[in-house]
Amino acid sequence: MDTNKVNEIVKETIISLHKKNIPATPNEYHKEFCKISHVYNFTVEECEQFKKLVKKLSKNEQLEIESKNITTIEDMIPILLNRVSKENINNLALLFNNSLKPSISIDVDKDLERFTIKIGDSPALIFEDDIQKEMQDFITKRFEADKNIVKQKTSEIAKLLTLMGQYFSDAIHSSDKGSNEVSNIKSKIESIDMKDGMKSLSDLQNQLIDAAKSIENEMSNVGEKLNSGKSKVETLEQKVKKLEQELEKTKKESLIDHLTGVLSRGAYENSVKKIENTFMRNNTQYAIVFFDLDHFKKVNDTYGHDAGDIILSTFAKVLSKNTRELDIVGRYGGEEFVAIIHFNLKRELLKYLKRIKSIIKDNDFIYKNQKIHLTFSAGVAIRNNHNSYDSTIQKADMLLYEAKETGRDKIILEDGTII
Ligand code: GH3
Ligand code: MG
Ligand code: MG
Repeated sequence: MDTNKVNEIVKETIISLHKKNIPATPNEYHKEFCKISHVYNFTVEECEQFKKLVKKLSKNEQLEIESKNITTIEDMIPILLNRVSKENINNLALLFNNSLKPSISIDVDKDLERFTIKIGDSPALIFEDDIQKEMQDFITKRFEADKNIVKQKTSEIAKLLTLMGQYFSDAIHSSDKGSNEVSNIKSKIESIDMKDGMKSLSDLQNQLIDAAKSIENEMSNVGEKLNSGKSKVETLEQKVKKLEQELEKTKKESLIDHLTGVLSRGAYENSVKKIENTFMRNNTQYAIVFFDLDHFKKVNDTYGHDAGDIILSTFAKVLSKNTRELDIVGRYGGEEFVAIIHFNLKRELLKYLKRIKSIIKDNDFIYKNQKIHLTFSAGVAIRNNHNSYDSTIQKADMLLYEAKETGRDKIILEDGTII
């Protein structure tokens, strides 16, 4: 070492401090000495040692040293004291590694593995800018991976729910075709891939599949029962149809009205044809009498349908008892009767009509010890006055209507006679 040079620098240092009015404490002296030696372009090991030490510090520390113009080891101590203890760094590194360990997404990144090993080996690296940037990237990556898995699973659950909804709806509206579709949906539910990781979800999926299976079984049982029931119903329907047809046929064929014992409508029409033929040949004069019970609906309403039936059959008996063999009485409909009465003289016809009228007028119908009084109305048309049977019966119908309109309880003839 060049002692002269050193002495010169010492002298210069003392003068410089004195000029700057800085007390020559060891620290101030050291700083000034290194500065002056730098000016003299003279290398002093102690001064270089500080620079070497600074280079070993972190970038942030170096920046702080530079900005605070720190040049001695003593002044550097407060900055170094800000350093975290090695134990804390280790804990932090461990925490970081754990935070990046697979959570939802199970993919382990090879790069991440290498990185965590690196941090594990030298935890202090986490203070390095580059490393911190890399850590940030890994955190972002992990976050994205988890987000994607959650997204994917959410859409799988939605898919599952939609399929299940469809399943139930189809199961409810199922037919043979429907139950096939239900099977398809069940397969779709089975094929949703939930096996990876999400245990509770794949459990849910299995439960849904089990539920679907039992619904399907139930449906095919019900389907079978329905099918066999359907064919039974069809057979019964056919039988009923056949019976109905037979009944209709016998009804038509039946000559006697079951309730009243007089001619049925069909039998009456047949008999009329014969009478018409005779009339055409022999001009055997006859009248058509249309009878209709007055306010008959009221009888049903007041005394019941059975009472109505008995009155109908009694009224019919009155008519048929007073009808000669040549004449006919038929039930035209509900509570309407029609009689064909042959006569020579008008008074014979009037006699007949008056007899019917007085019997009904002077007597009550009896139903379960109750006396029920009833009247009837009638319209009478004479065949000779018309061109055809049809217009004659039409006239009788009109006169009956007139009798009803003008107060009931009367028989109106076409010559204006009222009984
Ligand atoms: P109107 O004086 O205008 O003839 O009055 P109505 O009530 O007699 O006549 P309407 O035509 O309004 O009602 C006829 C009633 O006759 C209604 C129906 O229930 C009843 N009827 C028809 N056929 C039968 C039957 O076979 N038995 C019974 N009990 N009632 C019958
Ligand atoms: Mg009536
Ligand atoms: Mg009527």
